[in-house]
Amino acid sequence: MSYRLYIPGPLTVSESIIKAMGKPMIGHRSKDFVALYEDMQPRLQKMFYTTDPVYLSTSSAWGVMEGALRNVCKKGVLNCMNGAFSDKWNDVAKRCGKYAEALQFDWGKPVDPVAVRKALATGKFDCITFIHSETSTGTLSNIAEIMAVIREFPDVISIADSVSSFSTLPIKKDELGIDILLTGSQKALALPPGLAIFSVSERARTRAKELSDRGYYFDLIEFHDNHTKGMTPSTPCISLFYGLQQRLVEVEAEGLENRYERHRRLNEMVRNWGLAKGFNLLPSPEFATRGLNCFKNDRNADLERLLKTLKSRHKLVIDGGYGKLKGKTFRISNMGDETDATISTLIAALDDSFAEQGI
Ligand SMILES: *Cc1c(COP(=O)(O)O)cnc(C)c1O
Repeated sequence: MSYRLYIPGPLTVSESIIKAMGKPMIGHRSKDFVALYEDMQPRLQKMFYTTDPVYLSTSSAWGVMEGALRNVCKKGVLNCMNGAFSDKWNDVAKRCGKYAEALQFDWGKPVDPVAVRKALATGKFDCITFIHSETSTGTLSNIAEIMAVIREFPDVISIADSVSSFSTLPIKKDELGIDILLTGSQKALALPPGLAIFSVSERARTRAKELSDRGYYFDLIEFHDNHTKGMTPSTPCISLFYGLQQRLVEVEAEGLENRYERHRRLNEMVRNWGLAKGFNLLPSPEFATRGLNCFKNDRNADLERLLKTLKSRHKLVIDGGYGKLKGKTFRISNMGDETDATISTLIAALDDSFAEQGI
């Protein structure tokens, strides 16, 4: 049985991607592989708005989120926290033996650039992590304002997670001065899980060279040395590379601006449906993210029952709240390949499934 996924990752993977991933295997040190890698590189740089290299890691996003800290955190990291993923990053930093401090904001609130300035001014940190789009709460922080503050501190390396915002709206890495910008395959790009995609500044690589305990698998210098040969340090998930290449071709065919506009429109369609039903967003609307909506369960719906009906009757799945927000919120993704038609079908299914609860 297959279900259409409207959870905020993984998402339903299109036939064209599945077909591309079924291509015959090639050696990862072969000319064919180098051609595949070098074909994707300029396309990826365009999507990252960067002239820096874009590396590909066979891991989920967390691999690079952890790896980045092991590469650039010498003195201490400031973890900006406003949801499940950003909170976890502080725990991960400590588990890596790093000096880490939490800059905590309420779930559903964005990262406050003024608080970031105050914390960095203590001089305790040489790197900072933040999540552009907190998927657990559907909150989008103002990345331009945050980066403007971080740029006031030239010794601080910035690590930004764009897992659920990448390609839903422009994130201009070089213009904003982001050192490490990362995303994962299974959310905004609607590929299967297992690939992390990240672009790294020369500044960050210079810092990495100063650290002797950065390990091997996520060593930025290893990534870079192999990158210059059109390769990855170890054997990557080549099938996913084919999938990514197909995705990049499709993004170019649609056009980046059209892609952003489609996400804006579909996001608003779902949002307007929810508001009309009496569900408010968890974040305030100006900080609501583009790739999903996180609604508060303002009408006290039985979310478990709702999810069951959606799955059994309509063969689709939404999310009933992440971590401590389970039962209190529900999240609906419009990332990846959604269209006006698929979102309209979803909305009709939601109406039908809420109706049996009198909502
Ligand atoms: C899903 C998610 C992650 C973690 O991704 P994995 O692929 O499970 O490692 C990290 N950050 C954000 C914002 C996410 O949405």
